[in-house]
Amino acid sequence: MIPITQPVLGEPEAEAAAAVIRSGWLTQGPQVATFEEEFAAAVGASHACAVANCTVALHLALLAAGVGPGDEVVTVSHTFIASANAIRQCGALPVFVDIDPQTFTMAPSAIAEAVTSRTKAILCVHQIGMPCDLARILPIARQYGLPLIEDAACAIGSEILMNGAWEAIGRPHGDVACFSFHPRKVLTVGDGGMLTTNNSDWDRQFRLWRQHGMSVPDLARHQSRRVIVEEYPVCGFNYRMTDLQAAVGRQQLKRLPELISRRRQLAAYYSSLLSQVDGVIAPKEPAWAHSNWQSYCVRLPKGVEQITVMQRMLDRGVATRRGIMCVHREAAYADVPVGTSLVNSERAQDECILLPLYPQMDEGTQRDVVEALTDALRS
Ligand SMILES: *Cc1c(COP(=O)(O)O)cnc(C)c1O
Repeated sequence: MIPITQPVLGEPEAEAAAAVIRSGWLTQGPQVATFEEEFAAAVGASHACAVANCTVALHLALLAAGVGPGDEVVTVSHTFIASANAIRQCGALPVFVDIDPQTFTMAPSAIAEAVTSRTKAILCVHQIGMPCDLARILPIARQYGLPLIEDAACAIGSEILMNGAWEAIGRPHGDVACFSFHPRKVLTVGDGGMLTTNNSDWDRQFRLWRQHGMSVPDLARHQSRRVIVEEYPVCGFNYRMTDLQAAVGRQQLKRLPELISRRRQLAAYYSSLLSQVDGVIAPKEPAWAHSNWQSYCVRLPKGVEQITVMQRMLDRGVATRRGIMCVHREAAYADVPVGTSLVNSERAQDECILLPLYPQMDEGTQRDVVEALTDALRS
């Protein structure tokens, strides 16, 4: 059986988790603080704030942007449902725009007509690791005075060419970027999330909110030689990351360069194999983007039954997934109006499948996958 993905975990992660247990300090301690510093340095951000997962990171980012009941946030439907759920958790309404059919990310040309007097923010998604066209989206956000939130759940290690230099996703280029460490992503700690920003007010706000609105973090209280009594200036949440997760995350971060270069090799080999398969369109990076290839999404030939191809491949022992979902098609979003054509989003969901891609796979396995796909299309 060839799985769709497989996390890269080993003795360093197991040892790091064991060391935290032996230390007796399990949450909001030194491992969380150090992971935040190392993560900020890895993406080139001034601040990184660790939280329980990316969905709550998005919730805090939206709150910092001032999103509340009755407000609108311009985003894509073609994304994992958590992006839109975070908007609704603020009591706000997602306003969906279509995607670019080649990159599967927000079409910059669709943003302006979605902006109204109720728009409070733009939430763009670096879908399956492919960077959004930030060079075009950012000026639009600035023109309308809207904060830009980057859903970078899948995009650790992705890069974008900005003003002539390659920069990591998460610097951030917008106002804040939100990452996920779920096992389906490139780095994992089981469940975890990170907010990166260069806005120190926002970073302070995130730290208050994630820990019940408490004015003094545990680490500061523990290290103090004077009695400190904390206060609760705002109503917060419990969105903490534990030190167990952070210790694992630090080991994962050390693997990042190797994981990304392996993923890029695998994607390049898929691309050369797929060039021999009639009608299948392999994903392609625009000249200004380096994907981390969190997922590898191919478009099937016209008229082919997606589910039939997936079933035939599964019968051959090859796991696949359908194209990224469209949130507006789910029952949970039946009451959210759609004001524009989302035809490229719907086509991407219906015409694409994700192929297995993970660092442990070898070239022979990739040939097996492409052979199974070729046969599934032929029969
Ligand atoms: C995985 C994912 C999320 C949610 O991340 P969690 O850490 O599971 O909360 C949000 N947005 C996108 C685009 C994702 O792929």
